[in-house]
Amino acid sequence: MSVILSSTSKNAPLLIYNGLSYTVDRRSDKKILWKCEHARKFKCRARLHTDLNNIFIQTVGDHENHTGDPRSGPIRQYYDRLRRESQQNQTILHNILTQTNIGVQDEVRVQLTSNHHLKRNIRRWRQETNAAPTPFNINFPVVPDNYHQTTRDTIFLRKDTGPASDRILIFFTDEQRNIMENATTHGFKQNYETDIIFADNIHKILALAFLEPNQVISGFESLCSNLGDEYQSILDYMEDNYIGRLRGRSRRAATFPIIFWNMAARVKNNMHRTNNNIEAWHRKLNCAFQCTHPTLWTFINKLIKEENNIHSDFVQRHMTGNSEEENKSETSNQRTVLLDIPPRLQWEKRSRLLW
Ligand SMILES: [Zn+2]
Repeated sequence: MSVILSSTSKNAPLLIYNGLSYTVDRRSDKKILWKCEHARKFKCRARLHTDLNNIFIQTVGDHENHTGDPRSGPIRQYYDRLRRESQQNQTILHNILTQTNIGVQDEVRVQLTSNHHLKRNIRRWRQETNAAPTPFNINFPVVPDNYHQTTRDTIFLRKDTGPASDRILIFFTDEQRNIMENATTHGFKQNYETDIIFADNIHKILALAFLEPNQVISGFESLCSNLGDEYQSILDYMEDNYIGRLRGRSRRAATFPIIFWNMAARVKNNMHRTNNNIEAWHRKLNCAFQCTHPTLWTFINKLIKEENNIHSDFVQRHMTGNSEEENKSETSNQRTVLLDIPPRLQWEKRSRLLW
């Protein structure tokens, strides 16, 4: 009979053999010596030896004061799986159970406690991992310390305005701030801030979002014929990404179709509006979650990990000087922009994150 490797509630290795469980007693150069998990409770002196890869060698001594249960191994495994599932997926408890119950043998099933109790376990595990209970509204007291830093232990959470309906959390790194500052001194930002007419014309371009969808193209064409050469690169960019470039008499499909960014209907219905231009990045972030209902802590955790990806890209680009693969929607300056919390966090509707 082979051994089953599991873990104790405190995440220490646990070995199951013949329905009896063992924890690590000592390690030598060639062997691991395991002792009965009831060594203290029942004064049990039974031992088990494995090699360093947990391959069974022999048992030493008997469990004189207690008996094993051949079903305890599979039950431990069930709990292991349940625990893993509940920490990796922030979906509702019912779904966690459904997923874990696939392929479970009937003789294990009858040994399990009721669904009600299993769900209670899941809630407890989640609270332990998150340190702070998952917030169900925006008035949670603070963001726990372990979500304040990047994976490199630099500051990431810069501002939390505290519990209120218009709460704002701001996340950014020094690196991202530098990119942002460089981008604004070399680009159109300066023109925009110092030249009123220029700024006014830029507003006209942005106002396309508030025209009825079927009037956007004629609005854009009228801007093209009325604005001077200095707006050409901006209009080109708009045309490629948001309008669709002319091809004969028709237009190519834009990267972001008009219907996707048009705000006319939203204004009429008084719905949430956003001026961010990071749709591609936003979509990518959504993919990164891989679960449909992240808790706020999961969400911040993913932000922290995503920041690490961006940092790697940034370092790589600077080391190799490789800008070939850059494209406009993916450059790091464009990632350093205002980002709405995904609408899935329903209560977060009016909150924003600076990324
Ligand atoms: Zn024992």
